Amino acid sequence: PAELEDLVTLFDVRATDSPTPDAERAAALESPRFGTVFTDHMARVSWRQGDGWLDRRIEKYGPLQLDPATAVLHYAQEIFEGMKAYRHADGSVWTFRPDANAARFARSAHRLALPALSVDDFVGSIAALVRTDVDWVPSGEDSSLYLRPFMFASESFLGVRPAAEVEYLVIASPVGPYFAGGVKPVSIWVAEDYHRSGPGGTGDAKCGGNYAASLLPQTLAQEQGCDQVCFLDATTNTYLEELGGMNVFVVMADGSVHTPELTGSILEGVTRSSILQLVADRGHAVVERRIPLAEVVSGLADGTVREIFACGTAAVITPVGRLAGTTFDSTVGDGEPGELTMAIRGELTDIQYGRAADRHGWMRRL
Ligand code: PMP
Repeated sequence: PAELEDLVTLFDVRATDSPTPDAERAAALESPRFGTVFTDHMARVSWRQGDGWLDRRIEKYGPLQLDPATAVLHYAQEIFEGMKAYRHADGSVWTFRPDANAARFARSAHRLALPALSVDDFVGSIAALVRTDVDWVPSGEDSSLYLRPFMFASESFLGVRPAAEVEYLVIASPVGPYFAGGVKPVSIWVAEDYHRSGPGGTGDAKCGGNYAASLLPQTLAQEQGCDQVCFLDATTNTYLEELGGMNVFVVMADGSVHTPELTGSILEGVTRSSILQLVADRGHAVVERRIPLAEVVSGLADGTVREIFACGTAAVITPVGRLAGTTFDSTVGDGEPGELTMAIRGELTDIQYGRAADRHGWMRRL
């Protein structure tokens, strides 16, 4: 749309004089490993108190020089987003619900006392970067260009207060299929001694500190032989919240689909809200509520719980094959990916890759 043209035009493209040679880029796109290779450029906008957002630009990807007193290194005043650009069969490049990511970024900024970036600048920065580095968008099946917008306190100052200088950047990394050998169920360890967030905390913001807090419990989950950790609410240690980086859904034998309600300590996933819509479209009862862990464990034993899956931008939908904790170790269904889980996964990826009609207007051409 013409409007996107206007947003992109605000970004001054300062192209690198040393782009990655074609052969090297082709090799990187052949078998991209998540988050290891980045495109030639990054989008960048700077903010200063009093002046607002300045100097919208696309510049050569490269290291940042930071003073050791840079505020983010001490007080973690930082937020980020995660989204993808998808190449459709006709070569066009699209992204999925960027307005939803922009809105969440604004909510995260508010919670971390960072300046608000407009939806226009958020979407414009992504379009400007993807257009500059469009040759980096893979065309292989289930491949995409992962986009990582982030904002941090760049002021050199050790006082504990919101920084008066902030940088916003977008970097991009080609990614291949999350499940290389076909979709495989994951096992989940329910953390009983650690929480990722509590009431009034930063759980519903996408800030780096939440992920720092999840690393130890995630490591402990792996020591228990599980792939991922699931957190419970910090107040009662009773209700399912979410995984370290994914929301969670429970499918009942009666066909109803349940997910933890947004309590303020859960991140509102864009995938989560899209799934709620797709499941409702299919005529399933959709229930957002507090889901007691005990109910899920007994439901797995007596068959009232049929499927569990996790969801997020990176893996889209991940079937859960096993749920374990200190007092239980349950197989989900027969341990194989559930029927509804895989149907919704197929439907969502078909929309994202342009194989199915975008009936909700979720796709935005870049
Ligand atoms: N919860 C957490 C903690 C996450 O990091 C993510 C990934 N952004 C999600 C849920 C899923 O969010 P989305 O579907 O927007 O990727």
